[in-house]
Amino acid sequence: MRHRIAVVGSGPAGITFARVLHRHDHPVTVLERDPAPDARPPGGTLDLHEGMGQRALDKAGLLAEFQALSRPEGQAMRILDPDGTVLRDWRPRPDDRANPEIDRGQLRDLLLGPLDVQWGRGVTQVVPGTQDGVRVHFTDGRQETFDLVVGADGAWSRIRPAVSSVTPHYTGVTLVETSLDDVDARHPDLARLIGDGSVAVYGVNRALVAQRSSGCHVKVYAQFRAPLDWHTNLDLADVEAVRSNLLALFDGWAAPVLDLLRHGTAFVHRPLYVLPVSHTWTHVFGVTLLGDAAHLMPPLGAGANLAMLEGAELAESIATAGPGDLDEAVRAFEKQMWARAGRWAQITTAGLERLVSPDPAEALALFDQVQPS
Ligand SMILES: Cc1cc2nc3c(=O)[nH]c(=O)nc-3n(C[C@H](O)[C@H](O)[C@H](O)COP(=O)(O)OP(=O)(O)OC[C@H]3O[C@@H](n4cnc5c(N)ncnc54)[C@H](O)[C@@H]3O)c2cc1C
Repeated sequence: MRHRIAVVGSGPAGITFARVLHRHDHPVTVLERDPAPDARPPGGTLDLHEGMGQRALDKAGLLAEFQALSRPEGQAMRILDPDGTVLRDWRPRPDDRANPEIDRGQLRDLLLGPLDVQWGRGVTQVVPGTQDGVRVHFTDGRQETFDLVVGADGAWSRIRPAVSSVTPHYTGVTLVETSLDDVDARHPDLARLIGDGSVAVYGVNRALVAQRSSGCHVKVYAQFRAPLDWHTNLDLADVEAVRSNLLALFDGWAAPVLDLLRHGTAFVHRPLYVLPVSHTWTHVFGVTLLGDAAHLMPPLGAGANLAMLEGAELAESIATAGPGDLDEAVRAFEKQMWARAGRWAQITTAGLERLVSPDPAEALALFDQVQPS
């Protein structure tokens, strides 16, 4: 007997889960709110760790294709003082495959492959424990029932309330993201500043990070401590108003660093929310969570990696579980996920405190701790 399994969300967690089940010839219904894979810009670049994201791709049979697409040179990292002094200039060895970068869009397309995602199917809620299983309610009023519903629907999960009453809270740190296109041709000085990977500049309670994707595209993240309503008197849709606001916030920083903001095309406001460290719940028959839906944490290089590894591990446990063992497989998976995610939530929470800190030396000390010289 094959279980009726649905996963809500086609982010890194949901599609890795579905792709590994597909590899095991187990049917799965993928429900995604977006009307099409390219309905939203896919975002910047992700570094996939050997023991996490890459392990998940291996379980999906996609490691060789990832290696062909990924950019090991993208691991390079330069750190500057706000006055422009280069403090660290770290480059990977040519054979270093620990954390190569891949564009989010490339990763999504690689994982989607043959999957038959149901696009435009927003879920409003799930109701476990009905006579026929877990009932899924859709935005268009329709309902369907499954044996297991996996919530991989991100920070503001509609599945989470079926297992937990916890909601994300603001960290006190906001990101404003902008982009540079065709950077090598249009902004050669900035291209040199950024190098093959990333450049980060740490000041008092603020930071600027620029990260290269493929195709000469760069994402720039202005990060700062601020109350959630810091933009009350600012129209976030007014690009020039946001730019001058940010330039004022980073006033006094070296001109080449500020050029990262001066040349940015549009600005996206991303206040950083998290779930409590070590978020767990009392197991609910027929429903579980993966990725950000389960353990939203500061974006310090772990979230997508954890999401993918969890997706792959849960899929493998389900595919190999006996007919009556589905619930036990989910319970065992949850225990493993909670323990690992709890450790990463602690690391990333402490990391955010040090990277956007009253003492910029903390950021440098953290880099020296995690980066082999
Ligand atoms: C600026 C930034 C940089 C980051 N950099 C890194 C990095 O370098 N490395 C790293 O590992 N992590 C990084 N992260 C974190 C990473 O992006 C997330 O942890 C990861 O995307 C979580 O994957 P997910 O599949 O759980 O959720 P998501 O990626 O949020 O995917 C959720 C999916 O569910 C869909 N959905 C939502 N609600 C519904 C609904 N009601 N019905 C149906 N579908 C729904 C959404 O449309 C989406 O497709 C970064 C995050 C940010 C913000």
